[in-house]
Amino acid sequence: MQPKTTEQKTAYAKRAVAEGGVVCLSGAGLSADSGIPTFRGKGGLWERYDPEVYGNAEGLAQEFRRAPQRLAEFLADFYSLLTRARPNPGHRALAALEQAGLLEAVITQNIDNLHQQSGSRRVIELHGNAFRIRCPGCARAITIEKERMEEMCTLLGAAGGSATRILRVLGRYFPRCACRQRFRVDIVLFGEMLPAGELEAARSCLESCKTLLVVGTSLAVYPAASLPSLAKERGARLIEINSQPNGPQGLFDCRLEGPSSAILQQLVRELSS
Ligand code: NAD
Repeated sequence: MQPKTTEQKTAYAKRAVAEGGVVCLSGAGLSADSGIPTFRGKGGLWERYDPEVYGNAEGLAQEFRRAPQRLAEFLADFYSLLTRARPNPGHRALAALEQAGLLEAVITQNIDNLHQQSGSRRVIELHGNAFRIRCPGCARAITIEKERMEEMCTLLGAAGGSATRILRVLGRYFPRCACRQRFRVDIVLFGEMLPAGELEAARSCLESCKTLLVVGTSLAVYPAASLPSLAKERGARLIEINSQPNGPQGLFDCRLEGPSSAILQQLVRELSS
């Protein structure tokens, strides 16, 4: 029988996590309490910038030609959000569960690097990482320090809308690789394929998963959205943690409703008491 009251749900989640073999699938909602609004939510990036333009490589290139000042504003807004954010108690609770040997891995759709910053070690990044640049030619990847990204935001702000100056700033932070191709941000834009290795790693860690925690995701973006059903087919129990119920009816064994930072923190507190 499905747990119904908050007490029953909390007890269910606590028992399941205490058994170990837990994997977490996280989404933008987990980082909302770190000050990064979900892109489509209230105050999100897509309220101010059209995702048809700013969510794909071709749109970004066209915007640079049409309105370089607007593109510079978008990049500065996007990176300021990410550089200001710090891990919240939800990220830290997941890192503590891994440390305690209960959580096997985090599969994340987030690109904000907050799982790693909070101490999580096994993080599978389905949509890449905004603090990494990658050469599209030879696939060489380089991690970029937060401070460098902050510096880029400042310089973009000071470029005063001049296409030449904006290009010079971007050239400095997205230089050419030794193979002559220009580095780009290592995130999956709309219409692009997921890194095959990451998707494979995600699927493989669901093979032996006993409990999948599905945290702060609308399950609207594929193929990440297909992972809960895959875990269920392989015998895992599914627990959703979200500020509002989500996903198809009947998919989850238990749904905990509320901010993920508070729920995860409480779960870890109860497990260690
Ligand atoms: P989404 O925006 O589609 O859904 C967010 C979900 O989080 C919703 O179901 C919402 O109800 C829930 N939510 C909001 N606040 C919450 C809170 N405090 N606690 C718990 N749940 C909360 O996000 P998605 O499913 O991850 O898909 C969006 C795509 O955009 C992803 O591919 C991701 O790469 C990208 N994105 C990433 C970030 C980030 O890195 N932090 C932020 C925004 C978007």
